[in-house]
Amino acid sequence: MEYLVDRSPYDYLGFPLPMRTVGWLGRRHGVQGASATPMTGAQLKRLRAASQRLGSITLGWHDCDFCGDFKGNGEYRYYLPDRDIYAAPMMILHYVEEHGYRPPRELRDGLPEAEQPPWDWRAERLHAVLLDQSGDPDFRCQAAVDLANWNDPRALDALRRAAHDEELADVAGDEIGRSLAAFLDRGLARDLLTEDLHVMVRYGIDEASGR
Ligand SMILES: [Zn+2]
Repeated sequence: MEYLVDRSPYDYLGFPLPMRTVGWLGRRHGVQGASATPMTGAQLKRLRAASQRLGSITLGWHDCDFCGDFKGNGEYRYYLPDRDIYAAPMMILHYVEEHGYRPPRELRDGLPEAEQPPWDWRAERLHAVLLDQSGDPDFRCQAAVDLANWNDPRALDALRRAAHDEELADVAGDEIGRSLAAFLDRGLARDLLTEDLHVMVRYGIDEASGR
């Protein structure tokens, strides 16, 4: 894992959208923001609510540099309504709760009450990436993860099409399935016939729905 100053441009792995970093903590820069005002209960609640779905779990496991008692893998991506995107390692909540880390104010104040942002250029871009059959499979996989942020029929339609793309489903079917499960949870996609889907997509749906 890399250690980065908060709000650095994200260039750790390729990603189809520009992002900034938060919470990539380590000994090199210490616990950033420790002198800032503590997070309010409402801010912490919003951060927890926004930290549900991990992307890029191929990053590999990493120990907390400060206590060595906690391991994390993957990252959360926060889509703020002002169109900024922040990427944080899975361990961000551990850093906040155990080590006094305070994320920058833009993130603390910017996380929305409601989870789903309105359809915008970011959604358009992820939609195009997911359906681009000649595109980078890693990008397409990340697009399948993040499109579930939008509770929108266009996102659902793209995921359904991706689920029938055999080549993509071989490598990203579980993530496509987890995203489809989010739509099933919302009461959409009731007509989805899961038995017709790639085995990896079914696995992702089952895993996300705890079946
Ligand atoms: Zn720790």
